[in-house]
Amino acid sequence: MQQTQPNVAIVPTPGMGHLIPLVELANQLALHHNFLVTFIIPTDGSPMKPQRRVLQSLPNSISTIFLPPTNFDDLPEDLLMVFGTDALEVAKEFGILSFIFFPSNALVLSFVLHLPELDKKVTCEFRDLPEPLQLPGCVPIHGRDLADSVQHKKSETYKWLLGVAKQYHHFAAGIMVNSFMDLELAVFKALMEGDRSGFRPPVYPVGPLIQNAFINEAEHEQSDCLKWLDEQPSGSVLFISFGSGGTLSQEQLNELALGLEMSGQRFLWVVRSPHERAANATYFSVQSIEDPFDFLPKGFVERTKGVGLVVSSWAPQVQILSHESTGGFLSHCGWNSILESIVHGVPLIAWPLYAEQKMNAVQLTDDLKVAMRVQVNENGLVGKEDIAKCARGLIGGEEGKLLRKNMRKHKDAAANVLSQDGSSTKSLAQPLLFCGQPRENLRVRVSR
Ligand code: UDP
Repeated sequence: MQQTQPNVAIVPTPGMGHLIPLVELANQLALHHNFLVTFIIPTDGSPMKPQRRVLQSLPNSISTIFLPPTNFDDLPEDLLMVFGTDALEVAKEFGILSFIFFPSNALVLSFVLHLPELDKKVTCEFRDLPEPLQLPGCVPIHGRDLADSVQHKKSETYKWLLGVAKQYHHFAAGIMVNSFMDLELAVFKALMEGDRSGFRPPVYPVGPLIQNAFINEAEHEQSDCLKWLDEQPSGSVLFISFGSGGTLSQEQLNELALGLEMSGQRFLWVVRSPHERAANATYFSVQSIEDPFDFLPKGFVERTKGVGLVVSSWAPQVQILSHESTGGFLSHCGWNSILESIVHGVPLIAWPLYAEQKMNAVQLTDDLKVAMRVQVNENGLVGKEDIAKCARGLIGGEEGKLLRKNMRKHKDAAANVLSQDGSSTKSLAQPLLFCGQPRENLRVRVSR
């Protein structure tokens, strides 16, 4: 009897931070499990250049459909995110099995899954909680460090997230998390025990799925920065990037530039033009809104020539992190950036900006102990002195040595979990066993 090839439809959000790990998941499904994969991608116009580059690199068994452009203008102003969870309800209507791919860590997932319960228990705003929140197996987190979307309970974003959390509970056959057992053992254990009761979908740690270094090759400016790295001493360069969307205010941009200069450390900085209101102003477009060089302090580029290199908008991050000369990463703490840093053993300076990044920063500093965190002063800025201190401490100081040593352990664990017998490889194979089965059978099996 001829066997049909299973087909998976993947519905990502338009941002790079979700598309990149999903492309890696698609590659795993196609190359190691013989699946056909179709990306169904919402856009607000034509896909941006880095997005096209990622999608063009796919093998034939992975195809892409762009949905007709959607206008985001009529969304409530405080609704910051557009996720694909409504697809879960559509899938249910058609009797199609559906899994969630959670592109962040188990700590954040635990918070989302507990949100309906916390919403009932916590009567004040989370940021006013007198004690840190302690979820099962998780590092304690102050309410002010929880995700932006839960900071105002009356906001549309909060109500939306609460709805998403309920959708997770009701519609998903399982949740694949882009993290791994050794990194978040206690959190995963607690999540897995929780699903025995049948109230929660099973959780599968399938990471670290990170972007393939080849995708970024070829761009002229990019190869220039890799050539520059080739000329620097081993472990000497601090890489600075705020992900695909991160933007700073003009005042903050000045402090960062002056702090880097003051530190005397070598640096490679991906810079975007400032934005006064949003910290994620280029999340869907990636490109700097204006020429960022026009906004750097006068004479900065000339004064730091030879010590630092400034790149506009986008750089080949994975290749930079895997480069011998890179000794540290000042990051906005997007989860992909963190995983890429872990896989390549680079300790971090945590400078969270938006979304769930403060939670990630707490995990990096208090739990994994692979990062130092910048301090925001009474003016809401990270001052140049603090930036200089962190840069020196990470690249040349004793604290940096310790963080690097801790990072080494996680790097080794990350390499093991994706080997043939690794825990993430095995974990990804589990939900695939259910594919092709009617939904009803799955429900019985999931709730054990
Ligand atoms: N990225 C890159 N070059 C850049 C900026 C970002 O290759 O100049 C990639 C980075 O390697 C990561 C992704 O874009 O894979 C950003 O994801 P992350 O979760 O760190 O942050 P987000 O952009 O979602 O805030």
